[in-house]
Amino acid sequence: MIDKLGDFKRDYFCGELTENNIGDEVRLLGWADSVRDHGGVIFINLRDKEGIVQIVIDPSKSPEDAYEKAKKVRSEYVLAVRGRVNRRPAGTENPKLKTGNIEVAVDELRILNTCDILPFPVEDKINVNEETRLKYRYLDIRRPEMMRRLILRHEVYQATREYLAGHGFLEVETPMLTKSTPEGARDFLVPSRLENGKFYALPQSPQLFKQILMVAGIERYFQIVKCFRDEDLRKDRQPEFTQIDFELSFVNEEDVIAVSEGLVHHLFKKILGIELNVPFRRMSYDEAINKYGTDKPDLRYGLELKDITYISKNVDFKVFRSVAESGGLVKGINIKGGAKFSRKEIDELTEFAQKFGAKGMAWIKVNEDGSLQSPIIKFFTEEQIQQIKNTMEAENNDLLIFIADAPETTHRVLGFLRKHIAEKMNLIPEGKWEFVWIVDFPLLEWDEEEGRLVALHHPFTSPREEDMDRLDDAINNKELALEFKSRAYDLVLNGEEIAGGSIRIHRPDIQKKIFELIGISDEEAEERFGFLVNALKFGAPPHGGLAFGLDRLVALMAGVDSIREVIAFPKTQKGICPLTGAPDYVREEQLEELGIEVELPEEET
Ligand code: ASP
Repeated sequence: MIDKLGDFKRDYFCGELTENNIGDEVRLLGWADSVRDHGGVIFINLRDKEGIVQIVIDPSKSPEDAYEKAKKVRSEYVLAVRGRVNRRPAGTENPKLKTGNIEVAVDELRILNTCDILPFPVEDKINVNEETRLKYRYLDIRRPEMMRRLILRHEVYQATREYLAGHGFLEVETPMLTKSTPEGARDFLVPSRLENGKFYALPQSPQLFKQILMVAGIERYFQIVKCFRDEDLRKDRQPEFTQIDFELSFVNEEDVIAVSEGLVHHLFKKILGIELNVPFRRMSYDEAINKYGTDKPDLRYGLELKDITYISKNVDFKVFRSVAESGGLVKGINIKGGAKFSRKEIDELTEFAQKFGAKGMAWIKVNEDGSLQSPIIKFFTEEQIQQIKNTMEAENNDLLIFIADAPETTHRVLGFLRKHIAEKMNLIPEGKWEFVWIVDFPLLEWDEEEGRLVALHHPFTSPREEDMDRLDDAINNKELALEFKSRAYDLVLNGEEIAGGSIRIHRPDIQKKIFELIGISDEEAEERFGFLVNALKFGAPPHGGLAFGLDRLVALMAGVDSIREVIAFPKTQKGICPLTGAPDYVREEQLEELGIEVELPEEET
């Protein structure tokens, strides 16, 4: 028998009750977290979003009707309870529960709904595959740790609005059905019914609209906004994700950085009670790549990259010498205490390096007694070995590992090795927040595949003022073009990029030159971004901005690895929503209206 809710209202959330409530009559609503029958007395842990409290149905004290119902209660039944808060009898307290010193003796029990056999227990630290969790996301979110993550995310929204609105930012929505935007990923397309053959693109970011809002005189804009990029979901990406996006007029880098730091400081203080040290440190792009092999360096640990290319030019070891002579880099990492690594562990590091594109990995072990062990040592003179040891700051018990390859490969591989070694050797301290701004990015980079220059950030990022007059000279001079730095900045936290932005181009003539440099013709620029270039002609103020990846920021604040843990309804790595089954086929009539014919892949027909 299912009872009615009627006008039953709760007085407290379960997790809110304290010893101050002892003696009070309270009404509670929630789910049966667990049910235990102890020789006639039934104990139910009642759970709602704020926590758990134990309710007791003792046949000698509770009404018979309540006891009969309690016998029927199973996990996740929905209950309404009226009862009195008591101190638990001495010795029966549960220190694991916040409400562990009290319990509620039941006077009235209503069963508001039953629950099927559960696919997994509704509790923290379950060992269930993710697809099942996502299919039954409503049960997954009922688990306290998931509930806490969504509450944290909510707090981030609220504190963001509070901070930005408090600093004169206006929240403006921008369209979801729009034209292709320039973040460099593949677009999601939405077919038009009214104009068959035409498509809207879902925005990769509000970049163009926020710039247009600056031309419109909004001065300070922000939005917590969904962005869509149809990329492979390897790593920890989602096809739709959320940004805290903002833009300001009449500013330079310092202003945007100050607002961003203020916002992060506010979020950490208000939500986590952590006082961050601002301003955050800054590092040039070149330094980050040279020392850490990546523009997202994790500064919680050392393992810096050291350059031995200058020594390698003269050595007999052909692999090193030919790389050094042909403009490549020979760099290494000193793994302190790594001399204890077995041959198998070193082979495992080599395989790891090869997975990321290295041809091999050289190594030198400095044994406890200072003797050296290495397959390549015979190719070096005494003096060269000494130089290598000095550069690597090698001491007894160290393992030196080296990658020799084109600069980009050497850095990339060592960047990944550095992280892998830090994890393997437990060098990453808990509870440390290492923020760093990466600045002085190159404006352009060379795209091998396309055989042309491309913007490292997006094509609306401003070059430095002192380079403006040299842009023309770089049109047919790739080397010069690659020298230009941009006015972009990225914020990195513990090795993850959490925000990125730039001062933008506000002059149509400069914008035109950048398009020319990256090989976008006048016609293409007109067709793709004409509306923005046009807007720049009508009194665009100097402006700049930034966007935070909200999912990553919340994941870091929650101490979880995957952004899927802080998104209510994420997609799997195959881009599927196990709850709804999206993406799915649609009805033939729908396709007809859209003027679309679909050719299904072989195996599906
Ligand atoms: N639109 C950029 C992005 O999504 C951020 C920015 O430049 O403000 O990465």
